[in-house]
Amino acid sequence: MEQVITNEPSTAAGKTAELLRAARQHLLFTATRPDVVMASGQGMYIYDMEGRPYLDFVGGWAVNALGHSPETLRQALAEQAAKLVLASPAYYNEPMIRFAELLTGISGMDKVFFASTGAEANECAVKLARKHGMVHLDGAYEIITMNNGFHGRTLAMMSATGKPQWEELFEPKVPGFIHVPMGDLDACFAAVSNRTCAIMLELVQGEGGVRVVDEAYLYGLRKICDMYGIALIFDEVQTGLGRTGKLFAFEHYGIKPDIMTLGKGIGGGYPLSATLAAEKFDLFAPGDQGGTYIGQPLGMAAGHAVVSELLKRDLTDNARRQGDYLLGILRSLESHGLVRDSRGLGLLAAFDLPEGKAPKLVARCLELGLLINVTGGSTIRLMPPLIAEQTHLDEMASILTAALMEIL
Ligand code: PMP
Repeated sequence: MEQVITNEPSTAAGKTAELLRAARQHLLFTATRPDVVMASGQGMYIYDMEGRPYLDFVGGWAVNALGHSPETLRQALAEQAAKLVLASPAYYNEPMIRFAELLTGISGMDKVFFASTGAEANECAVKLARKHGMVHLDGAYEIITMNNGFHGRTLAMMSATGKPQWEELFEPKVPGFIHVPMGDLDACFAAVSNRTCAIMLELVQGEGGVRVVDEAYLYGLRKICDMYGIALIFDEVQTGLGRTGKLFAFEHYGIKPDIMTLGKGIGGGYPLSATLAAEKFDLFAPGDQGGTYIGQPLGMAAGHAVVSELLKRDLTDNARRQGDYLLGILRSLESHGLVRDSRGLGLLAAFDLPEGKAPKLVARCLELGLLINVTGGSTIRLMPPLIAEQTHLDEMASILTAALMEIL
């Protein structure tokens, strides 16, 4: 028999080194990543090529609601993949219809459009708002968004996003987005004109450092929208589906949007997003909106299974309870002078560190087996899977405390 000669390294460390070399050679650079290669995951833990476990408080960037590789998702994908993966967006399929029924039922919204990423769901929301402007508001097209908001990385969503670092990037921007400071109702009121078709915001600015919107302000925005017939859009890509301790963050306020977007947790790791709208915004004509992978059976079955499981296990309530416990941990660190400005809503929490310390903390925690995220330079954000239990939070607290003591 002929002998097959391969260049496969014989040790896990050797394989990691070989993969890192190949990564640097072949992947288009977009992010500085640590020298680990993730290989598997289970529940609250993710494992690298060498089998080293990491307690995951990044959670796939607030995505892995049910933890890593949950049985529910694996089963739904396997069953649906054996039946029908893609039917073409030109035809209905049962998982698409069932998932739409489920999402409208739990949100109180009337209609759904499915996509794959949060940015796409937001693009759809903006298109709906502009169609509303065309049909009902004499051609109004401007959308008011918030400074320090985040809506995604397509060109239009980078234009909608009020991130100061992006102001000069990829010019010219898509026109028609007006940024105002969040919380300043007068500024928003002053920005409204007969060109305005919508106001769009996150209820907790996630990438902006976990900043919760003020209730009176949100109430004021709803009033402005009602007064002028303009659409209120909530980007719940990060906050939706239990993350903040309510199924949707708008429930903390009792203020409903006209259009809402979901992403991240909706697929539990499978790329999925949705734009939900009130009946009045069912305005698209054929060809206005669509896409090859819209509502394809595999993703729809995955999303249906993930959201059903999330509801069945009442992970929203778990997020609320564990979120309170998490905030208690952060407040205690704050009282010992280790962190500043601890804050959060459910399992979306953050704290600040002195300039330059946050990336060091992330790196040290990684070495100690804990994944955390830095946003905005000096803010650490925690967004673990919604299955997190007190033991996981205690384990996180002990690693975090040790790392903080070392780096401060
Ligand atoms: N909106 C919000 C509030 C987000 O947090 C994100 C992602 N961080 C997005 C939109 C974009 O989602 P995606 O990366 O899936 O396009």
